[in-house]
Amino acid sequence: MQAVAAVLQTGRLHRYNVDAGEESEAAALEREYAAWQGADYCIACTSGGYALQLALRAAGLQAGDKVLANAWTLAPVPGAIYASGGQPVFVEIDNACRIDLTDLASKADASGAKFLMPSHMRGHIADMEAIQAICESRGIVMIEDCAHTMGARWNGVLSGNFGYIACFSTQTYKHMNSGEGGLLTTNDPEIAARATILSGSYMLYDRHGAGPDATAFADVRLTTPNCSGRMDNMRAALLRAQLPDLPSKIDAWNRRYAILEAAIAQTQGLAPIPRPASEAYVGSSIQFQAISLEPAQVPDLLARLAAHGVEVKWFGEADPRGFTSRYDTWRYLADINPLPNTLDALSKLLDMRIPLTFDEADCALIGAIIGEETAKTL
Ligand SMILES: *Cc1c(COP(=O)(O)O)cnc(C)c1O
Repeated sequence: MQAVAAVLQTGRLHRYNVDAGEESEAAALEREYAAWQGADYCIACTSGGYALQLALRAAGLQAGDKVLANAWTLAPVPGAIYASGGQPVFVEIDNACRIDLTDLASKADASGAKFLMPSHMRGHIADMEAIQAICESRGIVMIEDCAHTMGARWNGVLSGNFGYIACFSTQTYKHMNSGEGGLLTTNDPEIAARATILSGSYMLYDRHGAGPDATAFADVRLTTPNCSGRMDNMRAALLRAQLPDLPSKIDAWNRRYAILEAAIAQTQGLAPIPRPASEAYVGSSIQFQAISLEPAQVPDLLARLAAHGVEVKWFGEADPRGFTSRYDTWRYLADINPLPNTLDALSKLLDMRIPLTFDEADCALIGAIIGEETAKTL
């Protein structure tokens, strides 16, 4: 609140409104986030979904190009592919919430797609070295959707450092909260230059905190449209204040996750999603499968949990509700192939956010309620 008040005091809310030699909050955020992520370049923008659009356009997507994506994702992903003129080619997920590598390889070959946008959906990270190998052998550019994996790691490497470009969301329910917001990171100076102009730099690209030098802009500045979606200084100030606390928040999430995971593992009929040893996840939400419930029994269980104030969501629902839309409900897309494994996995998949306003005792209580109500269903 003090950081935002300080921005308001100056009146300079716009990221390019700076005195000579002054660094704006947005530029400082880019510099600090690039350092945190270990990336050469960072561009701050209006939302995670907008960062995904920037990434696709900056990577050279042309109208009609195909983009591989796991079918289990959030609506901003197909929306970003659509908005940038691409066509999604959805890939199956497995029962552990990860993109199916066999289906990825075969869809890559069948479609000839040159882009892959994997979402580490709800924080589940697939075998990243295997995905890199699939992409490298086919000349596919990987753009990671890290909306749920800011601060997570695979084999010790931060999520977002496996692809060509990574996109992060700072919407309220993600790991840093500016209401809305997005961050794009890359090590490629030309992609960074294009993303900067696309984001709406009005040719003021030298006022960025982690941008490439002027040579990268020589052609790009005249061949790239301005599609305004800048971050403002108030939101940047909010995020700069939160970045130092991210490691301790990750610990806090994971302590709560462990309590809920143990309770769910003990509940007959439910099973938490297994987490591979290579994955250092951020437990900001938990997913589990209703392994021995019929889909028809799920709505009643969720209603009884809700009566206790325990809000569990179900990805199997045919009608999109809140954050749980299924790929076959994105009917604006030209052609959606049936994905039976994904539908089967989603028909059992339950989901709960773990806000840090819950303490560990709250999580134990929530776990006990889930156990009791599930036992009544079986
Ligand atoms: C939140 C989220 C995004 C981006 O969302 P915005 O609301 O546009 O910031 C993208 N992908 C996934 C999987 C998400 O959960």
